[in-house]
Amino acid sequence: MTVTALIISTSNPPRGALEKKVRNTGVFDRTIVCSSGEDVIAELKNQTVDMICWAFGINDEPTDWLEALRINPAWADLPLLVFTKEGDQEHRLRGLELGACDSVTFVTPTAELAARMRGHIKRSEQITRLRNRRAELAQMALNDPLTGLGNRASFDLRLGQEIARSRRSGNSFGLMMIDLDHFKWFNDCYGHQAGDTILKAVAKVLAETVRDSDVACRYGGEEFAIILPGTTATSARRLAERLHEAISTLSRDLWQDEKSLTASIGLTCFDGSRLAGSGELVSEADAALYRAKNNGRNCTEIYLPETSQLPLTFDYHLQGPTPLQAH
Ligand code: GH3
Ligand code: MG
Ligand code: MG
Repeated sequence: MTVTALIISTSNPPRGALEKKVRNTGVFDRTIVCSSGEDVIAELKNQTVDMICWAFGINDEPTDWLEALRINPAWADLPLLVFTKEGDQEHRLRGLELGACDSVTFVTPTAELAARMRGHIKRSEQITRLRNRRAELAQMALNDPLTGLGNRASFDLRLGQEIARSRRSGNSFGLMMIDLDHFKWFNDCYGHQAGDTILKAVAKVLAETVRDSDVACRYGGEEFAIILPGTTATSARRLAERLHEAISTLSRDLWQDEKSLTASIGLTCFDGSRLAGSGELVSEADAALYRAKNNGRNCTEIYLPETSQLPLTFDYHLQGPTPLQAH
């Protein structure tokens, strides 16, 4: 692995002297020399760097480039080593305040400099490893491993956020619960692994059919949930129609026989004006889903508050494949 130092010095000298000093440590395979903060950022965008060595003296503030460094997660852990003139206590302290991991002078002995550099690079690598691991764990905690969709915990989190956003903005959002019809039969008939394949295929259909801003999750088992930000009942209905169609097409692609995979959908909408929380909204969508099951499955029902003037239910029955009758 190539170890790279990025050197920044706005004035020359000491740019050349600093580059020589850094090279002499033997810590780095490569040095890149920059004469401005903008150059530093440009270089960082193009290549991996292990340490920034900064000759800090008068006229080197403001240091906007440091802010750019700190707010970018890819660069935030990069060790920044400040070089000052011997006895320049003011810049030594200021450099540390600005986020440098250490400060040395142009006359710090080479062996000591090398030891400090190696220590900082090692610590930075450890931090990066831990940061990556934490990101992986966070990802695992919120993802359903079978389908790759968000899991129940992710759904709960996103629904809470969407309710809060809707309360603030007054924008409505939709919540859709989708339950595959007679899935137990498919499992029993084709086997559990084939059942898994169906679940993955349905998840793919959901992910591909919804908008980027929508949140499709696996709620559990053969149930999926979609949060539809900025969506009215009318557009949520249209999406439900597309989903019914896409899911039925899927079954024809997966096992070329007449048995049709279908889903029942329960839908509710929220515009921030009523006192419902996550639990109530899920119950509403569930109640609508329950009606869809009772109405023969393969259809969508919408939950509407009793005060609403809108039609109470919406049924979508496919014209295409025959719904499964085999149980
Ligand atoms: P309904 O139309 O009333 O929803 O009937 P259903 O058969 O879909 O519902 P039921 O709750 O009786 O069965 C759900 C089935 O989903 C049973 C269970 O084996 C299956 N299932 C749940 N999770 C998984 C999974 O991860 N993989 C597989 N292959 N099957 C699963
Ligand atoms: Mg179910
Ligand atoms: Mg089911």
